[in-house]
Amino acid sequence: MLKPDLHTHTNFSDGALSPKDLVHRAVHNGVTHLAITDHDTTDAYRDFPELTVPGLTLVPGVELSARWMKIGIHIVGLNIHPDNAELRAGIALQQNTREERAQQIATRLRKLGLPDLLSEVRELAGDSTIGRPHFAQCLVKHGHSKDMRAAFKKYLGNGKAGDVMHLWPAQTEVIEWITAAGGIAVLAHPARYKLTATKLRELVRDFCDAGGGAIEVVSGSQTTETTNKLAVLANEHDLFASCGSDFHHPDNRWADLGKFAPLPADVTPVWEQWITTA
Ligand code: AMP
Ligand code: MN
Ligand code: MN
Ligand code: MN
Repeated sequence: MLKPDLHTHTNFSDGALSPKDLVHRAVHNGVTHLAITDHDTTDAYRDFPELTVPGLTLVPGVELSARWMKIGIHIVGLNIHPDNAELRAGIALQQNTREERAQQIATRLRKLGLPDLLSEVRELAGDSTIGRPHFAQCLVKHGHSKDMRAAFKKYLGNGKAGDVMHLWPAQTEVIEWITAAGGIAVLAHPARYKLTATKLRELVRDFCDAGGGAIEVVSGSQTTETTNKLAVLANEHDLFASCGSDFHHPDNRWADLGKFAPLPADVTPVWEQWITTA
């Protein structure tokens, strides 16, 4: 039986596990096809030049940050060629943007009366792509927030001071990089943008017009109601359906590798294009 998990993170971005440990856990959980989709980097794939490990097949992926209207969105690229020049240039740009964004986030938090967190955040991030979770960690460590969730709620989440999204490229551009690299662009966790049904439909329409090919109908643990709504949206727009845990940490039990509801029967799974079951 196929059990794809097409949205996961390693410690090359904000995940806890190394690529090897992630793959090990995925095999243990019965995942047959795994996409590592780190934020704005494909470096985890350096560990797997063959793309196969005993027990499962890797689907090369990435999760790219983008902008749509006045919100930050995430677009997953699946089945990409990580070495494609256009994608590489895009990823290099994203890394620069992350650095500049970190500076802006630090400045904004300072204006709220918090200490300058930039150097500590840089140190925490090390070689991983620098992001808001590192700021959250820092805020918790110094007692400004009681946990990561509280740090996002007060300082870093949608619409808060640390939500610096204006630097990200428009979704059109990001979709182009993925397509140039031979991949399919997947709108990640559409329910998490907290949009009204009308706005979400608008986003999905623009995403299609820009060359997007799929949406995540199942992302981690979500309600059946959400899944059904997203399935309708996928079918209305002739989009393939993807699914993934968005796994970050082993202690997030709600979203372990491969542990999520199956796709509804009436959608077309994105892997039908490339996974053969002969
Ligand atoms: P960034 O890539 O820098 O924009 O940071 C976004 C990441 O922060 C997401 O991919 C999540 O892993 C994490 N995140 C977002 N919201 C929350 C939250 N409320 N609590 C904890 N982590 C979060
Ligand atoms: Mn993340
Ligand atoms: Mn995401
Ligand atoms: Mn993710």
